[in-house]
Amino acid sequence: MKFQTSIILSSILCAVTACSTSSTGRNQVILFSSAELSTMGVQSFEEMKNKEKISHNVQINEFVQCVAKAITNNVPKSAHNGPWEVVVFDSEQVNAFALPGGKIGVYTGILKVTQNQDQLAAIIGHEVGHVIEHHSNERLSSSKLSQTSMVLAGAAMESQGVENRDLYMSGLGLGLQYGVLMPYGRIHESEADIVGQELMAKSGFDPQASIELWQNMAALSTEASPPEFMSTHPSNERRINDLTHHLKVSLKLVNSDNNPHCKKPKF
Ligand SMILES: [Zn+2]
Repeated sequence: MKFQTSIILSSILCAVTACSTSSTGRNQVILFSSAELSTMGVQSFEEMKNKEKISHNVQINEFVQCVAKAITNNVPKSAHNGPWEVVVFDSEQVNAFALPGGKIGVYTGILKVTQNQDQLAAIIGHEVGHVIEHHSNERLSSSKLSQTSMVLAGAAMESQGVENRDLYMSGLGLGLQYGVLMPYGRIHESEADIVGQELMAKSGFDPQASIELWQNMAALSTEASPPEFMSTHPSNERRINDLTHHLKVSLKLVNSDNNPHCKKPKF
């Protein structure tokens, strides 16, 4: 019921103002400015750096920075105009993220699933794809609309602004309130897969590796506890199918002028 109200409100807002279109042609309600999202991204990243253990392993950092630089060199300036900060977190978590404001976090746990530079490029391309497509802004806008709809419906709930930390942490995909993200979850993940595959191709990586990566993930998920990275994502089978279907488009985008050589260290 809440979601339906939100869709109706989204449609009204789309008709009036604040509507944008994603690169896959989807209508998006965007209520916040890029500057607001960048500020939130930068603040959240500082919190993550304080909370998590940072890896200072030189070889691992060089590998991750090398792949991230090759990818971010090809991100449209409209998504982020400036340097990107890339931090490796020393954690068994199979996870990675990118935030508005030019921030990327990679957990050492995910490097065990990525066999080479191309598979790591698929991860980083996917995460940066969320930023390019303004997914955080869309999630936050959706949260705001849901809250507005509850207030309009007379629910006994105090209206909360974007300054609410939990709200924007969850909008950025870092908090625990994943319930808020569910209506958009699968659509966003599929879109980031496609945008990420094209981005890795433009950056000189082999887009076929995005399919291999999800095959690795699928093998991992048959073990007792599924990796955290997959908990909010569509099924492996579906994304492997979608990425395979899109491969012929991405292969045409491969830019041989870009030829990254990032060597994965043994660890
Ligand atoms: Zn994702």
